[in-house]
Amino acid sequence: MYTFVKAAYSNTNIYKIAVSVVIIFLCLHLSAQDYPTIKAKEGDGIYSVLKRNGYTPDYLEQFMELNKSKLGKNNSMIIGRVYRLPLLVEKSPEGNNPTVIPESIPKKKVYEIFGRKYREITQKSGELTGAIFYLMSGHGGPDPGAMGVLSGHVLCEDEYAYDVTLRLARNLIERGATVYMIIIDPNDGIRDEQFLSPDKDEVCYPHGEISFSQLARLRQSTNAVNELYALNKGKYQRLVVIHVDSRSKKENIDVFFYHDKRSNSGKILATMLMQTFGQKYSVHQPNRGYGGSVSERNLYVIKNSYPPAVFIELGNINHFRDQQRFIIPDNRQAVSNWLRDGLIEDYKKSIQ
Ligand SMILES: [Zn+2]
Repeated sequence: MYTFVKAAYSNTNIYKIAVSVVIIFLCLHLSAQDYPTIKAKEGDGIYSVLKRNGYTPDYLEQFMELNKSKLGKNNSMIIGRVYRLPLLVEKSPEGNNPTVIPESIPKKKVYEIFGRKYREITQKSGELTGAIFYLMSGHGGPDPGAMGVLSGHVLCEDEYAYDVTLRLARNLIERGATVYMIIIDPNDGIRDEQFLSPDKDEVCYPHGEISFSQLARLRQSTNAVNELYALNKGKYQRLVVIHVDSRSKKENIDVFFYHDKRSNSGKILATMLMQTFGQKYSVHQPNRGYGGSVSERNLYVIKNSYPPAVFIELGNINHFRDQQRFIIPDNRQAVSNWLRDGLIEDYKKSIQ
C-alpha cells in the first residue's frame, strides 16, 4: 500500500561519508595491483568497453579513476591508447554498489548485502543463467509504508518486504540469475528475527537518497530499473515489486499478484506465480484453500517500467494470520522460495 509518512531525519549523510571512505579505501588498495589492459578501437566508449569485458556500469567510477590521465574530452577514449581495466572485486564492496551480481559467477561468492550469516553463496544450478531480475521492495528511506502492530511491536511494511526481497535475490543468484536490488539497505542483510527493527537508511539503486515525495520516489526507482533495462536489452528481464498491504484488522487476505493491463508478459508472469503458490499451498496445507488472485492494477511502477513486471502484496499487515506469513522468518523464506520456483517456470517458458 502507498502511504506517505514524513520522517524527522535521515541517515543519508552518514551513509554518504561511509561510501566515500569505502571508495577512497578501494582506490588506495587497488593502486598496488596489476591491472588488465585494453587498447581502444574506433567507436569505443567507456560503457561499451566495460560491457564487452564483462563489467557492470558500477565500475565506471573506478575505470575513470584508473585512466584519468588518458581520457580525452568528455571522458572519450582515444584510439590506440592503452587503458587499464578495474579488477573485478570478488567481494562486493560494502556500502558501495552492493547490488550488481555479474552473470558469470564462480561457484562460490560473497555478497555483503545479504549480511554476515548469508553473504556466502554457492551456486546450486544454472536454471536461471541469462535471466535478469530487478527486485524492488516497497517504500524505504523516509517512508516505512504500511504499519501494523503485534505483541506491542510496530511492524513496518518496508522492513518485511525488504527481507523477503533479499531472500528472493539470494535464491535467484543460487540458480544462476543476474539480480539487481533496486531498494538497498546497506547494513540490514537477511534477518532471522520475528520483529525487524525499522530504520531509514535504505537507498535507491545504485546509491541515491530516497526522496520524501512519493511521486519523486516512484520515478526514482522506476528510472533506475529503466536505465538498467537499456543496458540489458535483448535479454529476459523481469521486475518483481514486493509490498505488504494494509487493510482492516478483520480482513484475512492471501498473496495477490498484479500486472499492468497492457502487459501480456506481465500477466503470464503474475499467473505463473499465483499458480505456483496454489500448488505449494495444496501440498503443504491441503485443507487451507488458496484465495490468491491475479488482476490488473494501475500502479505507477508497473505501468512505467520497461521490463514486464509483477506487483505482489504479501498479505494484510493488520491481520493476525497474514502477519504470520511475514513475521516468522521461515515463512518469509518459504514465500521467497515459492517466488523463485514460479520465476524459474516463467523463465523456462519464455525460452522454450
Ligand atoms: Zn506498499
